[in-house]
Amino acid sequence: MNCKGVIRELSNYIDGDLDPIVKQELERHLEHCEDCTMIVDQTKKSIEILCDSKPVELPTDVRSRLHDGLRQKLGKEPT
Ligand SMILES: [Zn+2]
Repeated sequence: MNCKGVIRELSNYIDGDLDPIVKQELERHLEHCEDCTMIVDQTKKSIEILCDSKPVELPTDVRSRLHDGLRQKLGKEPT
């Protein structure tokens, strides 16, 4: 899995709604990619703040805004 794959699966990963095989691939990518680790970390944190630590579903508009932001962020990075 590459960085784009991580971004694509990010919301599912955080929701805990990811296929175990995909999740494993994603976590393997995180082990060697600081950027994605940071993104996952920050996303988790902002969701916790957003949801006041309650395990609620992320609203679709928030999710897509988040994805747009992450895509832009990744787009700037040389690969
Ligand atoms: Zn990455």
